Amino acid sequence: MQTTIHTEADHALEKLQETLAAFTADGRTVALVPTMGALHEGHLELIRLAGEYADVVVVSIFVNPKQFGPKEDFARYPRMLEEDVKKAVEAGAHFIYAPEAEELYPAGFDSSVSAGALSTILEGKSRPGHFDGVATVVTKLLLRILPHVAIFGEKDYQQLAVIRRFVADLDIPVDIIGAPIVRETDGLAMSSRNVYLSAEERAAAPALYATLQSTAQHIASGKMLSAALRLGVDALTKAGFKVDYLELRHADTLAPMDKFVSPARLLVAANLGKTRLIDNIAVE
Ligand code: AMP
Repeated sequence: MQTTIHTEADHALEKLQETLAAFTADGRTVALVPTMGALHEGHLELIRLAGEYADVVVVSIFVNPKQFGPKEDFARYPRMLEEDVKKAVEAGAHFIYAPEAEELYPAGFDSSVSAGALSTILEGKSRPGHFDGVATVVTKLLLRILPHVAIFGEKDYQQLAVIRRFVADLDIPVDIIGAPIVRETDGLAMSSRNVYLSAEERAAAPALYATLQSTAQHIASGKMLSAALRLGVDALTKAGFKVDYLELRHADTLAPMDKFVSPARLLVAANLGKTRLIDNIAVE
């Protein structure tokens, strides 16, 4: 299939919608991979996976102002549309949808999707409003593109849980697929925000995943949960992190656990200098 690129606001969406409707009428399936750009191998794996689930792959690139807090990095978030388009197409994207903020949120826009209790814990506690911003933009993208499947990374594990919840609650007709975390060779989960790390911070960063692994091992081998978590926080603090949370949660509902019961997920958020890093791992 020939790749068509839609990056301009005026009528691009209409044209894209017409084309996708024709594909769908023809019996072909559509996958959407929502991103904020600054694409890395983690995003590219989602795009490749999308190609396994559907005939037509749409990648959206949009730095969504509504999911950033007033003191967060919206203004300095890396933007590199031209490079992103090239990478996405090489990974198998057939259409790129890169709207301007005014197209998604025109003057007078005044509604939002409220993500419920899941949005108030973990990331939501430190980033109030973040998941409502995510839920609002993902809902809009799903309704604009009407994909059969949408692919999201387990890197943002809570985000995936929130999306599964509101998609089910609001009867949005799409299959949500979660994709495994792609890591650098030293274990650091790939992230567009890793470019913020200084050389020294980058050298310390792999301790985040190493600590998740050792803590998961302690928990799985029967160590008392509170003791295992305390050890983990100590290790991260020693490595130079300021820990926001290190918690074991039910893998699907994200309900808290006071002892290990399968299926469980160990989730962490910690700051290295000014950069907030998140990661997670299954405990089996
Ligand atoms: P972002 O551009 O950061 O909003 O991410 C777009 C999508 O890519 C989200 O579904 C993320 O969970 C996913 N993603 C980001 N980093 C990774 C990674 N290292 N491995 C797998 N998926 C990722």
